[in-house]
Amino acid sequence: MNIKTLVSSTVVFSILTVSSIAAVQAASDDSVTVYSSRKEHLIKPLFEAFTKDTGIKVEYLTGKGGALIERLKLEGASTQADMFMTVDAGNLWYAGSQGLFQTVQTETLKSNIPSYLRDPDGLWTGLSVRARTIVYSTDRVKPDDLSTYEDLASDKWKGKLCLRTSKKIYTKSLAASVIYNHGEDKAGNIISGWVSNLAATPNAKDSHVMNAILAGQCDVGLVNTYYFGRLIAKNPNAPLKLFWANQDTTGVHVNVSGAGVTKYATNVEGATKLLEWLSSAEAQAIYGSLNKEYPANQNIASDDIVSAWGSFKQDDMNLSKAGILQAKAVKLMQIKGYK
Ligand code: FE
Repeated sequence: MNIKTLVSSTVVFSILTVSSIAAVQAASDDSVTVYSSRKEHLIKPLFEAFTKDTGIKVEYLTGKGGALIERLKLEGASTQADMFMTVDAGNLWYAGSQGLFQTVQTETLKSNIPSYLRDPDGLWTGLSVRARTIVYSTDRVKPDDLSTYEDLASDKWKGKLCLRTSKKIYTKSLAASVIYNHGEDKAGNIISGWVSNLAATPNAKDSHVMNAILAGQCDVGLVNTYYFGRLIAKNPNAPLKLFWANQDTTGVHVNVSGAGVTKYATNVEGATKLLEWLSSAEAQAIYGSLNKEYPANQNIASDDIVSAWGSFKQDDMNLSKAGILQAKAVKLMQIKGYK
């Protein structure tokens, strides 16, 4: 990257008001440039290890996922990005649907990452897994009373449920999985049941859902597991526990953080190498534990803290469905009054 292009990209960056630029070191020609909505502390240790292993340098900048997608669209063929990295299959699918990725299907990726965590057309690959499951008050709920996402729609949870807002991509992807597993009619009834069981207006964040349970406002909620991990790290005695939903049926709804090689990558070979490396045993052990997530590579054990939450069956819906069904999910939640 020469100074001129760096300056011009900085201008675009500020126009888009992307929150933070982390990086951009002096690059050599074979370096790989990554745009990432994952924060610097979650990617830097990985890129450093990759460079140590391969000698290939990685330049990166971080920002909000939506702004980076707009930037990639705007830059088109002149982009410096070889790879785009973000969270949630809904976002990865959207980037793919906008023509921002190219197909990369290698034997290494196929053998390292199960197919349901990858785009069927090879546009993106899941690299870490987050489970979205039930969290409950150990003071007021017996785990025997819990079972499924669907059961949270039943009358016994009236006034006891807290949920995150339907505006968040995590909620959209979960709703998409309910539509996938049940069809639209039944999914609509489930979402209606959730809404009528709410103790309060849907929360802005998963951490707010857990704080509401701790404050006694509600007894059960749904959260991504790493947010539970963060809360317990700060407050080890919090009377909260995770419950693995749908173990006798479809399994826990999981999602990914992931990445794809950009359509206009100038270093396709380097970016493909980085993607493969990120799926490897070495990278996966680091990747999962940095954010208390699960490795996407199923041959790698989770770190100790995450493993202590117990093992569980994952829903193996191909995660591209989270994107394909997203518009239906949004509409259904709107119709059913899920704010
Ligand atoms: Fe998150």
